[in-house]
Amino acid sequence: MAGKASPRIGVLALQGDFREHIASLTELVADVVPLRRPEEIDGLDGVVIPGGESSVMDKLSRAFGVAEPLGAAIRGGLPTYGTCAGMIMLSARITDGIAGQHTLDVLDTTVRRNAFGNQNDSFEIDIPMPDLGAEPVHAVFIRAPVVEQHGASVDVIGALPDGQVVAVQQGNVLASAFHPEVAGEDRFHRRFLDIVRRA
Ligand code: GLN
Repeated sequence: MAGKASPRIGVLALQGDFREHIASLTELVADVVPLRRPEEIDGLDGVVIPGGESSVMDKLSRAFGVAEPLGAAIRGGLPTYGTCAGMIMLSARITDGIAGQHTLDVLDTTVRRNAFGNQNDSFEIDIPMPDLGAEPVHAVFIRAPVVEQHGASVDVIGALPDGQVVAVQQGNVLASAFHPEVAGEDRFHRRFLDIVRRA
């Protein structure tokens, strides 16, 4: 996006909490648009994949013909941030997916869906993440996944006190198992926009 005044960010808006991401991003950058159709990918400088239900998002993104060109664009370097279901959509491998669930396969991780079970399926916790600054991140988990395994080129940005990995970055792809967009936490969106500006 070299030379452009303001990056254009697309938020995948087929399902889930895309409105919250659009609101968070609009605080930081002027040009934020919903992404629903394959022809809208061209001209984007970055993409956000929201939280929601990954199996539904997967089906809709394939039905709308967005999944394949979006995966190709991300593999080609398009900066991308996924939260929760968005993290699942990005992951190369998932455990406890529904039968036939696909992903965009752009992040070298194995992610377990609904990793915290029914007892503890939603919770909030402050997690130190030195990459994002001294202040811990207030992380809101809602039927969240965890990263069970990751390749050597994946950096861990955040983990729970028991060591379970919940935020990662691999090149231009950033992902968190929790929802900064509902917590008034803008440092993940800022980090994503830094990736966009450097790309
Ligand atoms: N459990 C959901 C899924 O599997 C993710 C939940 C969320 O995005 N808050 O897609």
